[in-house]
Amino acid sequence: METLPDILIPKAFIAGEWRDAKTHFAVTNPANGDVLAQIPDLGAEETREAVAAAEGAWPAWRKRTAKERANLLRAWFDAIMDHQEALARLMTLEQGKPIAESRGEVAYGASFVEFYAEEAKRMAGETLPSHGADKRILVFREPIGVVAAVTPWNFPLAMITRKCAPALAAGCPVVIKPAEATPLTALAVARLAELAGLPAGVINVVTASQPAAIGEVLTTDSRVRKFSFTGSTPVGKKLLAQCAGTVKKASMELGGNAPFIVFDDADLDAAVEGAIASKYRNSGQTCVCTNRFLVQSGVYDTFVEKLAARVKQLKVGSGLEEGVAQGPLINQAAVEKVETHIADALEKGGRLMCGGKPHAMGGTFFEPTIIADVSDDMRVAREETFGPLAPVFRFETDEQAVAMANATEFGLAAYFYARDYQRIWHVMEGLEYGMVAINEGILSTELAPFGGVKESGLGREGSRHGLDEFTELKYVCVGGL
Ligand code: NAD
Repeated sequence: METLPDILIPKAFIAGEWRDAKTHFAVTNPANGDVLAQIPDLGAEETREAVAAAEGAWPAWRKRTAKERANLLRAWFDAIMDHQEALARLMTLEQGKPIAESRGEVAYGASFVEFYAEEAKRMAGETLPSHGADKRILVFREPIGVVAAVTPWNFPLAMITRKCAPALAAGCPVVIKPAEATPLTALAVARLAELAGLPAGVINVVTASQPAAIGEVLTTDSRVRKFSFTGSTPVGKKLLAQCAGTVKKASMELGGNAPFIVFDDADLDAAVEGAIASKYRNSGQTCVCTNRFLVQSGVYDTFVEKLAARVKQLKVGSGLEEGVAQGPLINQAAVEKVETHIADALEKGGRLMCGGKPHAMGGTFFEPTIIADVSDDMRVAREETFGPLAPVFRFETDEQAVAMANATEFGLAAYFYARDYQRIWHVMEGLEYGMVAINEGILSTELAPFGGVKESGLGREGSRHGLDEFTELKYVCVGGL
């Protein structure tokens, strides 16, 4: 069995206590199937206890000065960065991503804690011109209350801090439900919060192999005032509907179908590098990963050849090996989805440029794949593949590219490469997406508002806008002056 870092206590964390349970579930290493740990399999009852603990911790937490909360967040940030290597290794073990990417995610995840430690002190209200000479209008910004955070397995650390850091900064306690595939990183990060001095009940983590019972409590309990979810669109829709019963404020960071458009005036070498980062990072298991390449006719063949030459160099292997660019997929279901999309595209006339099948290493390793000559009737045009498959579509005009890019119910991230100044403005304005990267393959940063339009979600995370998601405005009318 792998040695796990000593900052990991493999138990749930409720009301400042590490809690065991009668039943447990196994967390496994996707690179080899080994069991890493057995952790408590909780249900509705323990979740209600966690909500009660959070509610109990709320009055004292919100009364702390912003500076006190900021100092605790800063201590948590330092603790995370002091344990960057241990956290990265743990993340690679349970999630599979290359160790260099895990180190990057620890730094990225920690950056939200650092940013909101600073932002905690800037949660300003306002005074407004009043509607009468004897009146004054004040607007207070107040913490919303108990926050529930449900997170996916593809970013086991950053999706937690992106929600919890602004919630805590605003004065809200949190109950976290990490993904069943990757709860260990979440528990280690909660342990570091405890060691950094965050008070009991302010951070709680409930773990479970079957999320529905926990989700039911977190979406229907009236003590939970904000439900913040990151995951797939079908699950998000269901949980959003469950939130309606208590008119809970909800944030939804959901699926994407990102286009990556290459125009004929693009710097093709830069576009290829951007494509590699945007498509094959985390083995293609990122919500902002390119799902469709749209390439203009004049440069189509050159781009596909250059991309294929570069993709063939990507080293597949265990994420713990330095130099590996692509680890295993998270599970067999993920492999099957990629295989289905490939089979469908090839059956309908797609041209395989490289890859195309499970990797010779076995398990859930998959060959980085490119399919050219894809068309709108293929499943890859509409569905999120969430794996290392790059389908390349062809287009003629700018208008056609924008129309193809927008022909999806999703609207998270879009990428394009071009040089012409007017084209860049027109295309950027035409894209119905929450985030657009121009001549760039990676756009996530704590400094900018992350989020999607259409069925990619509601709300934003990161930047000052991320703090607003955890606050309510209170308008106070002062009269008789
Ligand atoms: P998922 O929807 O299957 O699961 C996400 C989380 O929801 C997990 O913790 C899971 O246990 C939980 N869950 C599932 N059913 C639930 C229920 N009934 N009640 C409560 N919780 C429940 O998604 P996933 O497979 O873990 O993640 C991949 C998806 O997440 C992709 O669609 C990806 O695009 C999306 N994603 C989006 C963003 C973003 O910021 N927009 C970021 C990362 C991932």
